[in-house]
This record gives sequence, C-alpha cells and structure tokens, in this order.
Amino acid sequence: MTSAAERKMQFLYTLRSKGVTDSRTMTAMEKIDRGAFVRGLFAKRAYEDMPLPIACGQTISQPSVVGLMTQALNVQPRDKVLEVGTGSGYQAAVLSQLARRVYTVDRFSRLVREAQEVFDTLGIVNITAFAADGSHGLPDQAPFDRIIVTAAAEDPPGPLLAQLRVGGIMVVPVGQSDTVQSLIKVTRLEKGFDYEELRSVRFVPLLEGIGQE
Ligand code: SAH
Repeated sequence: MTSAAERKMQFLYTLRSKGVTDSRTMTAMEKIDRGAFVRGLFAKRAYEDMPLPIACGQTISQPSVVGLMTQALNVQPRDKVLEVGTGSGYQAAVLSQLARRVYTVDRFSRLVREAQEVFDTLGIVNITAFAADGSHGLPDQAPFDRIIVTAAAEDPPGPLLAQLRVGGIMVVPVGQSDTVQSLIKVTRLEKGFDYEELRSVRFVPLLEGIGQE
C-alpha cells in the first residue's frame, strides 16, 4: 500500500520525466490535488498519468499533458486567461495558481457546476466558470493574455485568435477528432501570428453549441 506522500512523489516524478520542467508549473501541480477532480469508479486512478472519464462522456486530461500545456502557456502573475473546455476543472485550477484570473467555459452546464463545487471546496476564488460555447470566445472579457483550448479544433478558431492580446499566447490541439492531433502554440505578433508545433496529442472534439446531456 503506497502512502499519499509516496503517491504524490511518484506523480511529480512522472511529470518531470515526461518533460514538465518549469518550476512554477510543477509547484502549481504539486498544490492542486487531481484526486479532487475525479469522481466515482476512477477516483483511485487519479494519480496515474492517463486521461480518465468524467461526466457527460468527456475526459479529464492526462496530467503530463496538462503540465506541458501549462508550461507552454508561460502564464504571468498579472495574466487574464481563458480556458475553453472546463471539463473536470483540473486544468483551470492549475492555471489559477499562476494567473490573476481564469475564465473557463464548457458547453455542458453540469460539468461547470461540478467544477465550481470543487473550486469552492479547495478555496479557489480567481476562477470564473460558466456554460457557453467557447468557440466564440468571451468577447466581453477580451482581450486575453493567454488562451488554452482543451478540445481539438480543425483550425485555431478565428474568434479566439481575435481575442488574444498582442504578445499573447494560445495553446490549442488542432486536427480531426479520433486521429492524432497536433498541439500548437500560437503567439500573436504586432502583425500576424507565429505558429509552433509542440507535440502530438489526443483530445475530445471542440463542438458547436450548448451540450445536451
Ligand atoms: N480541461 C479539462 C478537460 C477538458 S475535456 C480538464 O482539466 O478536466 C474537453 C471539454 O471541452 C469537454 O468537457 C467538452 O464538453 C468541452 N467542449 C467541447 N467543445 C466545446 C465548446 N465549443 N465550448 C466549450 N466547451 C467545449
């Protein structure tokens, strides 16, 4: 039987061995207990480096992918961040440790409600979560310093590119669903955008409209 402390050591060791080397990202992931975001049958696997099922047929991302995306975003303490795809709320919670404020949206209101319950339990107060189709972004709150999309789009969505501040960074998995997708880092320049391909990933698809359970 492994103790909670051993499990945590192993969790952090795996992150490091998969390339999560940024110390601020590691500190945030050390603080936020992934176990709080996985319910039911799969709760006991929360510290394994794999995606797990959550409600509404969605998944909580693999911890090492959360770490690599967080580190690629290079969030600064004053930043306003938008996450599209709240899911369990785990990624938003990790980002909340690094940013001034995190806006997170999901097309399933149940997921948003359950994520909010966990944020409240953990005492996280700088996340604003609501149900919306995030492919349009959040025009009222734009521009954002950082945008993270945790569902795969065929192309980086135009409205999200438009809501990124000059100098801002967006991380988004791009490609057809059910195949291997590429994780892309987009940096907004004074004129145009710079695109960098980071690695291959696999995410559930970014879908239009509000989800019906
Ligand atoms: N970041 C999550 C994992 C997200 S799974 C976590 O840390 O657990 C992808 C999520 O994107 C799903 O919950 C899905 O409902 C949501 N999603 C897909 N298309 C969307 C859209 N257009 N707008 C908002 N959320 C969307």
